[in-house]
Amino acid sequence: MKYLSQETIDMVKKVSVYELADVLGYDLRRSGNHWNLRCPNPNHQEKTPDTYIKISTGYYKCYGGGGCGPEGDAINFYSWHHFEGYDSKKDFYRSVEGIAKLMGIPVQYRDGTILMDESRPTYVPRDRPKVPVIPAASADVCDRTYRRFLDLCPVFDEHLDEWLGSKRQYTREQIGAIGLRSIPKTLDHAKKIVDTLISEGYQIERVPGFTQFLRNGGNPNREEDWFWLIAGKGKYYIPVRDDLGRIIRLRIRTNYDNKKKYVWFSSAPVNEGDFIRRGGAESGAPINVVLPSKVMAIWEPGTDISAIYKIQKALIIEGEHKSYISADRLNMLVFGIPGVGNFREVLPLLKKYGIKEVAIAYDIDAFHDEKKPTGKNEQVFKQLVNLGKQLISEEGIHTELWAWNPKDGKGLDDLLINLKFPVVTDLRTNERLPFAI
Ligand SMILES: [Zn+2]
Repeated sequence: MKYLSQETIDMVKKVSVYELADVLGYDLRRSGNHWNLRCPNPNHQEKTPDTYIKISTGYYKCYGGGGCGPEGDAINFYSWHHFEGYDSKKDFYRSVEGIAKLMGIPVQYRDGTILMDESRPTYVPRDRPKVPVIPAASADVCDRTYRRFLDLCPVFDEHLDEWLGSKRQYTREQIGAIGLRSIPKTLDHAKKIVDTLISEGYQIERVPGFTQFLRNGGNPNREEDWFWLIAGKGKYYIPVRDDLGRIIRLRIRTNYDNKKKYVWFSSAPVNEGDFIRRGGAESGAPINVVLPSKVMAIWEPGTDISAIYKIQKALIIEGEHKSYISADRLNMLVFGIPGVGNFREVLPLLKKYGIKEVAIAYDIDAFHDEKKPTGKNEQVFKQLVNLGKQLISEEGIHTELWAWNPKDGKGLDDLLINLKFPVVTDLRTNERLPFAI
């Protein structure tokens, strides 16, 4: 086996997802501050292209059905396109090599040999404009601003109907404790709310989601041509809290049902031709720390979980409503993970609170056979099991996997609403355990 030189790897890392997808023959369409394209996962059957490349970061993600797994840089994209997945041990090397050959980058090995396709022009990395990363305002500032902002936001009947309806079955008390609110429907309404925040002295600069736009025909150099507003459209906001009960971010339930169902209330500065905005900050993707709503109702910002709640076992789950509904139905602490790539970020929280028992819930068939591919969720499932094993071996945490028969409910929230319980597997022994919280 010949090893690639660091120079080749560094050069391949300069290739953007956009350039690679273009060379691989993908159709790229501009959609706001993203490029929209087909999913690189050959097993993902799409009606419409579900994958987006974020222009500011250059990273991509498939949002189909909540995301089928592909997400990251050009190496990840290439691997999904050619090898139906990405496992760094197996796929990094062959993807780097493949991209180099495809893009006209000399493939240089550590033993000094060079492979070069003379028929191709040599790759020249494009100078991509550097977008400065603006840090978000502190958690305390975000908490104060978001709380007042949510107070000022409306609750529309159609959203209340959804929250109270048979699918979610929230009570009015739960809705209040969680802090669900509708997104203002008109520009005027949104403007009025933002102006109120400003006049009341709340900081909105660098609070993710708030941003300054340039007036039509305005001059970017004239301060008075800029005005504050909110970024993002959709149905309603779902607050995301840290372990001190502070509302640090908001999730947006969008108007889409298939792709990008949930996005962050986020406002990284953009300067792309006619799309220009400033003053905001990127949301990032923090973990949502959720307690049963009765406890959340009295959770004062700045108080850590252990001061108001006796922690026994923590549940790790992906998805906003799933987190809130499960925390209440099971009366337990829940760490809501925004996406499959963020599982490891729970580790510091588990350590901080000395949590020794963890359950990981994931929408996969309880009678899943490891040898049979389950299609799009295979990668995610592997990541989950790996996280579980890591928790056991490195942290000595008792870790269970919760799964269930999809006939009993699609997500854990549906399962619990249908008054069913998951099938529990001890990830250390692989034995079935009785369900317990
Ligand atoms: Zn996909």
